Amino acid sequence: MAITPQRDDDMVGTAGRRRVAYVLPVYNEEAGIAAFHAALVEATDTRPDLDLEFVYVDDGSRDDSLAHLLKLRGDDDRVTVLSFSRNFGHQFAVTAGLDACADADAVIVMDTDLQDPPHVSLEMIEMWEGGVDVVFAQRRSRRDSRFKRATAFGFYWLLDRMADTEIPRNVGDFRLIDRKVVAEVSRYREADRFLRGIVAHVGFRQEALLFDRDERYAGETGYPLRKMIRFATSGIVGFSTAPLRWISRLGFAISAFSVLLALYVLGVRLLRPEESVPGWAFLGVGMFLLSGLQLIMMGVIGTYLGRVYVEAQDRPLYSLALTARGRRDGAR
Ligand code: UDP
Ligand code: MG
Repeated sequence: MAITPQRDDDMVGTAGRRRVAYVLPVYNEEAGIAAFHAALVEATDTRPDLDLEFVYVDDGSRDDSLAHLLKLRGDDDRVTVLSFSRNFGHQFAVTAGLDACADADAVIVMDTDLQDPPHVSLEMIEMWEGGVDVVFAQRRSRRDSRFKRATAFGFYWLLDRMADTEIPRNVGDFRLIDRKVVAEVSRYREADRFLRGIVAHVGFRQEALLFDRDERYAGETGYPLRKMIRFATSGIVGFSTAPLRWISRLGFAISAFSVLLALYVLGVRLLRPEESVPGWAFLGVGMFLLSGLQLIMMGVIGTYLGRVYVEAQDRPLYSLALTARGRRDGAR
């Protein structure tokens, strides 16, 4: 039996062409942004049948990125520029972009440092036209530093074992998202954002597209170790409560061990009163071990509690200082 997907009716834009919007987060990319846009335009020129929009979100860059973006907008009427009032972070920039593109038939999220090759996005569009709702780019290889590769491997391994939702490995935010999935994602307003987990959580037909990740074209990474750790914690805490369960498991294990010890002490006392149980060393080690464990466990609880607090504040996710819509948009 043929089931017609709901999408088919609303897939066609007003001009009769499908609308595909690129969401492009920018943070201190002045050195490479013009080259990036040129590469993107060159790649997408092969699809004149599509109605394209390029939505750049300037995430409070400290360099001249915004001026460069506004210049791009002057030269290309498909460019929209959003600018944050300060640096809110990559995940928020992408969120703002998705919010602004709710009426596109598909949205493609990609980095603006040319690490995500533009031509891969065209393969994504083809898969989408074949009926896939989310096409996520999976790294077959990556040319980052050995340290970054090792930490990323460890993180994905851990996430894979712990997360309640199945989140694909070696997948960044480079992906195509169909309109109906964008609508679902925009209902997830958590402040501690791990978008690739949210998209996985939404469901629908999701498929991987393998690609080779390039080196950064210019500038430097906006994800130093500190931000990476925070991001990894968001991923784990947002999609798993396993650490909380481990606490009680560990508690049981230690309690069982201490019962055994008590039995041993009692046995020595009763059966061999002439032998004394070694005293202070044993106490000291036990004390440090237990208080250390308790502090760690309190930290785990605190991490979740902190998240509850942040979510309870329910603040807006970002603030825009400037919105310069693509000029074509007004005509629509
Ligand atoms: N980015 C952002 N806000 C930030 C950090 C990065 O919008 O606070 C953008 C950045 O311009 C790039 C993308 O997010 O387009 C990915 O960042 P980056 O390349 O620095 O991360 P990496 O590829 O090193 O993980
Ligand atoms: Mg990068």
